[in-house]
Amino acid sequence: MSQPVEKPFWQTKTLDEMTRDEWESLCDGCARCCLRKLEDEDTGDIYYTDLACRYLQEDQCRCSVYENRSEKMLDCVGLKPEHVYEFFWLPNTCAYRLISEGQDLPEWHPLVSGTTETVHLIGISVRNRVIADNRVPEEDWEEHIINWVE
Ligand code: SF4
Ligand code: SF4
Repeated sequence: MSQPVEKPFWQTKTLDEMTRDEWESLCDGCARCCLRKLEDEDTGDIYYTDLACRYLQEDQCRCSVYENRSEKMLDCVGLKPEHVYEFFWLPNTCAYRLISEGQDLPEWHPLVSGTTETVHLIGISVRNRVIADNRVPEEDWEEHIINWVE
């Protein structure tokens, strides 16, 4: 008789029940959360731009100051399970937001596909698509609003 297939942790645990390794493995490495965002003061709507934090190593989608990131970039907030009510600002592809909204991980997520490359191959990551924020004056950021991240 065949054994029942065990469900993966992200389908059985809430974010605050996950181990640290499980939590970390949810990050797909897309770096979409490192893009600069603009907020409509009247509606509170968030708009993503193609301007990436200056500390992002764009070709690898890695933070160059990861250990000191909150000191280097005051806007950079580390994600924690207790802040789940704030995850609405995360991209709608982000695993933390998906799980917090009761959704499953997509096929291209490294935990499902088995490789970190799918996030780049399918165009979810920001690799080769962005400009460092310090190369554009802040008054021009509005011109950099994009629709490929929501
Ligand atoms: S948007 Fe989410 S999945 Fe992508 S890098 Fe940021 S935390 Fe990780
Ligand atoms: S400091 Fe690092 S993690 Fe934070 S937004 Fe910049 S590149 Fe991303």
